[in-house]
Amino acid sequence: MTSEDPAAKLRLLEKQASICVDCRLHEGRKTVVFGAGATDADLMFIGEGPGQHEDEQGLPFVGRSGQLLSTLLERVGLTRPEVYISNVVKCRPPGNRDPRPDEIDACKGYLIEQIKLIDPAVVVTLGNFSTKLLLKTQVGITRMRGQAYPWWGRHVVPTFHPAAALRNGERVVEEMVGDLQLAVQVIEQQPAPAPPEPSVPQQIELFS
Ligand code: SF4
Repeated sequence: MTSEDPAAKLRLLEKQASICVDCRLHEGRKTVVFGAGATDADLMFIGEGPGQHEDEQGLPFVGRSGQLLSTLLERVGLTRPEVYISNVVKCRPPGNRDPRPDEIDACKGYLIEQIKLIDPAVVVTLGNFSTKLLLKTQVGITRMRGQAYPWWGRHVVPTFHPAAALRNGERVVEEMVGDLQLAVQVIEQQPAPAPPEPSVPQQIELFS
């Protein structure tokens, strides 16, 4: 592996994040939950932030929401090792509260670099936080979902957070399956062109 290898660069970034103290969330974390999965995945998922189980195990989506996400992936013919999963913030907000704007702002550089290095054709945003961050919208997830949005040479497909499906039942589960089917269709029918290579500062500007 050379320093040019995206997987090697991703490992370096993870190492950097593992000692990050750029926001208050470092104070209560047990581990930094950087992300997991195929580092060359066509499909990347972005959730909100680690919960208790994720914080303890250092892996994203390992609790009940994670089990549901695995089931949803199976419904569209995919497995966890084939995709990459991460979150908007890499450290657990205390008591599983929502991440705050300054925490998201402090952490977003890691996410942008992850997307650049993994280079997925489709990013599925799980819930409001990742959807609003990437698409720079204030429109809620219920109205945003169900469509693929062109985004920096790839597509963003917003859907509900699995926790919402656990709360709201089968209707939300089926809508999420529909969104994942859409994501798979976009990958199969419309291979993403080579993304532009803006500098990290320019990309971060996107999210300001
Ligand atoms: S949440 Fe992100 S910015 Fe905040 S301490 Fe953790 S890794 Fe650093």
